[in-house]
Amino acid sequence: MTFGREETVWIPESDLEGMSVDTLAVRAGQIRTGQLEHSDAIFPTSSFVYGSAAQAAARFGGDEPGNIYSRFTNPTVQAFEARIAAMEGGERAVATASGMAAILSTCMSLLQSGDHVICSRGVFGTTNVLFQKYMARFGVETSFVGLTELDEWRAAVRPETRMLFIETPSNPLCEVADMAGLAGLARDNEALFVVDNCFCTPVLQRPLEQGADIVIHSATKYLDGQGRCVGGVVVGPEKLMNEVYGFLRSAGPTMSPFNAWVFQKGLETLPIRMRAHCDNALELASWLELQPAVERVFYAGLESHPQHELAKKQQKGFGGVLSFRLKGAREEAWQFIDATRMISITANLGDVKTTITHPATTTHGRLSPEDKDRAGITENLIRISVGIEAVEDLKTDLARGFQALRNASTDNV
Ligand SMILES: *Cc1c(COP(=O)(O)O)cnc(C)c1O
Repeated sequence: MTFGREETVWIPESDLEGMSVDTLAVRAGQIRTGQLEHSDAIFPTSSFVYGSAAQAAARFGGDEPGNIYSRFTNPTVQAFEARIAAMEGGERAVATASGMAAILSTCMSLLQSGDHVICSRGVFGTTNVLFQKYMARFGVETSFVGLTELDEWRAAVRPETRMLFIETPSNPLCEVADMAGLAGLARDNEALFVVDNCFCTPVLQRPLEQGADIVIHSATKYLDGQGRCVGGVVVGPEKLMNEVYGFLRSAGPTMSPFNAWVFQKGLETLPIRMRAHCDNALELASWLELQPAVERVFYAGLESHPQHELAKKQQKGFGGVLSFRLKGAREEAWQFIDATRMISITANLGDVKTTITHPATTTHGRLSPEDKDRAGITENLIRISVGIEAVEDLKTDLARGFQALRNASTDNV
């Protein structure tokens, strides 16, 4: 019997040199065991055994590479990390238990007390809480500025600014940040530029190529794409990722092998799913813009979007999330949502199933009225994460919402 990696080989990365994201999604980061399985193997084990006491000592002492314990490394997790790193064009990826664990691990390993962070105002609600409530307790102060207002970013910089943090496009109004501009600002001030690439995925945008130092994902969203697991990942240069890995190894928010396997398989269909999400979302956004009951549609693929040209330059597609304001208030928004029958009423996004939500009372419900105002989260705003169902059927379901509004207005006469 042999122990360690003797019978297990990695499909060589050099075979894939220069290949496209579509190919890397299917082929990068695969381990093949002595069984010669065609699909990716899964290693659901907490620990690993050694051939001898001497081998155990060598592993622990770092003289021999290999697995020790799944809080440190696990082959399935490493396979997922290798695949997403290749897709993002980063040197190394570190998988985490959730998207929030990815953000926390990045902050804990690369910031220290006294440091200052600048973050875009429209970030994921929990990211906001993490910075404002928890990082603040450890002496890391965060300023929030408008995602698209480069002047606000410049004005917010201090000598102790160590990190700029953004999501682009933003949730739910699909604002698009000028990544090259922010990367330059970060570089000039020796700060790290961190991009949460959850909405675009490496299929539509590779922030590391546009000047970002670190890319973060909630793998829970498009990377899985089928709503099965919670997970996250951080991607960037070896030197920074070693720090993130060190924190993870000590603090423990690691990804489970089972979840890593689900994400590994999820990545294989990511390119074709993203194209289907983009096609459906653009079609629906254009259709919504024509509806008399709609006040305004927010989707970077529309020519009416203020950063349409920037999005065209920066992204390969406009993504699967859109939002729109109805003529009316909360009552109309809720009536509309409740009248849909097929689309899921849930705050999750990035799923093959289309979802619909009322941001003001769900995802952004914890924001103060002033913050909601500033972020444009009005009571008549509805967000749709467009899935991959037939677009005609999505229109049929949404038409039920418009019909409900018409019925309600004639009832009132
Ligand atoms: C969901 C989400 C997160 C948090 O990820 P979890 O996996 O839920 O912890 C972070 N950023 C963005 C943009 C998200 O949509």
